[in-house]
Parts: sequence; structure tokens; C-alpha cells
Amino acid sequence: MLLTGTVVADAETVVDDGGVVVEGDRITAVGERADLAEAYPDHEHREFGIVAPGLVGGHVHSVQSLGRGIADDTELLDWLFESVLPMEAALDADGMAVAAQLGYLECLESGTTTVIDHLSVNHAERAIAAAGETGIRARLGKVLMDQRSPAALEEDATAALAESERLIERYHGAYDDRIRYAVTPRFAVSCTEECLRGARHLADRHDGVRIHTHASENRGEIETVEEDTGMRNLHWLDEVGLTGEDVVLAHCVWTDESERELLAETGTHVTHCPSSNMKLASGIAPIRDYVDRGINVALGNDGPPCNNTLDAFTEMRQASLLGKVDDLDPTALPATTVFEMATRNGARAAGFEKVGKLREGWKADVVGIDTDLTRATPIHDVCSHLVYAAHGDDVAFTMVDGRVRYDRGDFPHVDADAVRERAREHAAAIDGAPSQA
Ligand SMILES: [Zn+2]
Repeated sequence: MLLTGTVVADAETVVDDGGVVVEGDRITAVGERADLAEAYPDHEHREFGIVAPGLVGGHVHSVQSLGRGIADDTELLDWLFESVLPMEAALDADGMAVAAQLGYLECLESGTTTVIDHLSVNHAERAIAAAGETGIRARLGKVLMDQRSPAALEEDATAALAESERLIERYHGAYDDRIRYAVTPRFAVSCTEECLRGARHLADRHDGVRIHTHASENRGEIETVEEDTGMRNLHWLDEVGLTGEDVVLAHCVWTDESERELLAETGTHVTHCPSSNMKLASGIAPIRDYVDRGINVALGNDGPPCNNTLDAFTEMRQASLLGKVDDLDPTALPATTVFEMATRNGARAAGFEKVGKLREGWKADVVGIDTDLTRATPIHDVCSHLVYAAHGDDVAFTMVDGRVRYDRGDFPHVDADAVRERAREHAAAIDGAPSQA
């Protein structure tokens, strides 16, 4: 296939009248349209305003998709324990599968081709299969919770880690290696030391498995960890093995100098979730400082109950604007930096090689974006347009691993109407569920 338009190969590399050639699961050429059209006359040709790398959702909760709007305007720990965890506990296996499908379809239709996904305790297998079947690229795992959790979600650490290992053996590297596993403790508050250390040991036993957890999102959270352990949260996580180049920490809003040094020294990845942090009034993560220290920062939408959208374009815009407000400096977090976070940095955090840029030999995760729109007229700077003006709705075409997964309203491999209908049915059932699970 030959995809043509203004090609944004990465934040710094734009071909104004360009093209991308895809063969199998790979990009085989990136260059000038005229040259590629002449060299590949028999390839199916698709034309878009902009051709860009698929975006990477560095921290999402697909399985919370049925909870959009259930807990707006609520404090984080109340939001979590009184609304979101009871919803997760109330989902049966089919509900979990439908919620995940819905989340992945929303990602694909708005240009996200890879996610780092924090699933739930129960029925994670159904969500993993949903990721495989919808065609998204995903780093994901079953959530671990073995203290301070609703009864329906709290598990014995040994049993939960054994179930995680079974999922690793079955799914890590499945679906043409689009699916890779992350051992996923919810956060230090809801996990014992045994559970957290066990997560590290489990990841170490399986090549390429990563660790993904929430960290230092909220002041109440870090106070609780300090009461439990006598340590700052990130030092506690480091103590039990949850830092390093195979670890992705969502949020990191409340960190002191020593914790920031720790993130940089250990090569730990951070996923910034500005919309979630603003909506839950968690605070402003010190992202410019992280970037200056060389910490790899990805972007994430977090879950539909705290955002309430999985549109990664809005997240890019919010990240840049919030960074400027934080420093009272309009030069902070420019469009190119934020676009890099939402593409290659996210893929690095997710642990996928040759993903996140349009390059010969790299994976064919590509989006086509419409520019025949009032808000896209004129475009003086295409990266600026993508970060500050474009919407997920502008995405016309999404390809993952060389396969077309979304094409102008259609999902070629999924009956999206049926998914939405079943999602409405399951959401209605949640509305009728008891508030305590
Ligand atoms: Zn989260």
C-alpha cells in the first residue's frame, strides 16, 4: 500500500508532498510522493492530508470504558474506592471483554495504535483477547491487589502472581507479538510488600515482560505509603524492585528531588496523564524537569471515568498547555516535544522496538489524518497542527502492524455496532449494581 500526504515521519522530519510504502507488517520506504508513485505503481494508493505515526497511549484503562461519567467531580481516592473499583468488581467476563473492546475501538478510531493498558483483577484474559482481536498493539496485564481493596477484587498475592504467570505463558508475544505482558500492581496502597516483590521476581523470570503501576498520583496516596513504610513512595517502589528500564510508572505528580534523581538514574519510564491529573485535581506533574533530566516521558489518557475520552490528540494539547502554565513559560513543552512523547517515547515505555516513527524497516503503525477542514486551514506548521488543533475525529485511517484496523468509520475486523450495543447493555447492568462489591 502507498499512503501519501504531508508525511510527519517524526517530530523533526516532515516530507511536504510525501509518501509511505507498506509491505506486510513493515514500512519499506518513506520519501517524496512522485518518486514512490513511480517506483510502486501497482500498490493500492490512499491519499490523506497528513500521514503520521500511530499514537501511543502510555497509560489507559480500556476496561473502565463502561464507566465514562460515573464519577465526575470527585476526589481521587473516593473516585477509586466508591465508584471505579466497585464497577470493575461488578463486571462479569463478558462485560470485561466488551469494555475492553469499546476502549480499543475508541483508541483506533482516534489514531492510537499502541496502548499500555492497566486491566482489572478479574477476567483479564478476556480483555487481553479483545486487544488481540481488535488489532491494537498492547502492553498489558492483570491488575494485582492484595490489601485495602474491595472484597471482590482482593486476592492472595501468591494466587494472583500464579495467575499472572499463566497469562504470561499464554499471551506474552501472542497475536504476531502485538501483545506483550506487563505485571501490573494497582499501586503501593493496595499491594503488600510480598505482592510488589513478587511482581519484580515474576517479570525477571520472563524475557521482555515489563512492570506497570500507578505511582505518586495523589498526596493521600503518598502519605499512606509513608505511614506504611516510612519511605517516600518512589523510594519504597525502588526498595521492592519496581524501578528500572522495564518499569512504567503512571503519573509521578508528587515527587521530591531525590525521587526525580532516582527516576533518572534507574531509567524508569514515566507516563504523564495531564487530563486525568487536572480532572481529579491531583496536581501538575513536573514534566519539563523530567524531560530536562533525560527521563523518558510518555503520554496517557488514563481511564474513561477520569478523562473522559481516549482521544490522544487532546492529551498532547493538554500536556503542552499545562506544562506552560506550570512554569509560566510559553516555551515549555513545545509541540515537537509533546508529539515525541505521544509517539516514540510511548513506544519506548511500552517496550516495542521500531515503533513510533515512520522509518524504512519499522513497523507499519500509521494513521491518515484529514485536513480538508476549517480548523485545518491553513496549516503553517504540521506538528503544531497535530498537537494544538487536530482532534481524534480528524483521523480517517488507522493501520497497525500493516493491517487496516479503521477506515473512515468502519472497523474491517470488528462489528462495532454490536460492540456498542452490548456495551450499553452492560453499562445499564452496572447502573443497577450495588455500590459496594
Ligand atoms: Zn490509571
